[in-house]
Amino acid sequence: MKINFTLEDIRDFCGDTFYERGQSYYNSGRVSELIFDAEINRYRAWVKGSKAYHVEIFNINFTGNDTEAYCTCPAYESYGCCKHVAATLIAIFKQKRSKSVSKKSKNDKHKYNQMDHLISSITGMEQSRRNRT
Ligand SMILES: [Zn+2]
Repeated sequence: MKINFTLEDIRDFCGDTFYERGQSYYNSGRVSELIFDAEINRYRAWVKGSKAYHVEIFNINFTGNDTEAYCTCPAYESYGCCKHVAATLIAIFKQKRSKSVSKKSKNDKHKYNQMDHLISSITGMEQSRRNRT
């Protein structure tokens, strides 16, 4: 997928204050579990601050008004945007840019699936062990 937005679009979308706080959140590695669901064109992530907040972003397309962002924090409720949304958008931007440069997203996906399989077989082992005791 090509990047169709810039950091300036993110700044416009979130406003200067949230954008700058979001950037420092991103830089200190607070965005985790960033996942894209192609079926509904949605990104979701957890952003850690004093608490962990769940961010969802639909239809990233800053050329129209399609972009919808949600966060579970109190600031989002008051302002309709927040530093968590900004941090997640920046993480998406960086991820897309690095993927379009390296072009190894297919390999990554394969690796991810293998890891997923490994994790579920470990959890399965744990569960059967627990059932025995
Ligand atoms: Zn938030």
